[in-house]
Amino acid sequence: MADTIKIKFWGVRGSTPCANSENMEFGGNTTCIQIIDSRSEELLIADCGTGFRNLGNQLTDHEHDLRGRIFITHPHWDHLQGFPFFKPFYEEKNMFRVYLPPQENVGCKEILQGHMSNTFFPVTIDMLNADMDCETFLPEKINFEGYSVNYMWAKHTIPTAMFKFKFEGKTIVFAPDNELPLDDSEESLKYIKEFQEFVRGVDVLIHDAQFNRKQHLQRQGWGHSCWESLMELTKDLGIGILRLTHHDPDSTDAHLSELESFIQSEFSAGHGDIGLAKEGQEITLPL
Ligand SMILES: [Zn+2]
Ligand SMILES: [Zn+2]
Repeated sequence: MADTIKIKFWGVRGSTPCANSENMEFGGNTTCIQIIDSRSEELLIADCGTGFRNLGNQLTDHEHDLRGRIFITHPHWDHLQGFPFFKPFYEEKNMFRVYLPPQENVGCKEILQGHMSNTFFPVTIDMLNADMDCETFLPEKINFEGYSVNYMWAKHTIPTAMFKFKFEGKTIVFAPDNELPLDDSEESLKYIKEFQEFVRGVDVLIHDAQFNRKQHLQRQGWGHSCWESLMELTKDLGIGILRLTHHDPDSTDAHLSELESFIQSEFSAGHGDIGLAKEGQEITLPL
């Protein structure tokens, strides 16, 4: 079989899980994606929202040891809530490396220790049985076997990464929390230019589109984008596949389906394949 890079969405919701019947089509779990390189045995995961739990459940019937790298954009709840519920963390034979950008002066291990301190959860990080290693990392590129990762700082309320995963021949940017500013200050324009250079020509861009323009105008500085800005600012950049994500928990399936049809009919010029990320959806990139 020909080799592929596959992206699987395990959670596409922002802010909080929403297990309501009107959200089940797009899914109620918070942010988590898995990137599968058919040439590699190693797991590659970005963000640990509640979707991360389902991913872990699917992995427990593996007989061999699991090896994986987990990249967390930032430690907001919706990106970490699944972390303690990932069953492979409780098996001694497995090994995971967790990467997080520095939060002021606090590193990855301290952040996770705080998240799992026994005031909030009965299991602390030191009680996980797998071989765990937590690494704080800066935007500079790190090379792993078969791929590299670097990031650009997002515009968000705390230090947050927009990860760029580069495989031989395929590039994916994952930016679930990023505010594309609405104002035209010098700083904002400079930021937009940098962002556009960062995503230019990528094969897949997965980006925050939690709001519409009206909501965004009322929520400037909250750290999220509106779909209108995303569509405008990614036009003509040669992006192969664009997936809008971090859907608002109050956005129903009816609303999101309508939005998807609308952007597909109105914005096809200047864009490649556009759509909304859906829980369970897979994107396959032939190599
Ligand atoms: Zn978020
Ligand atoms: Zn956030």
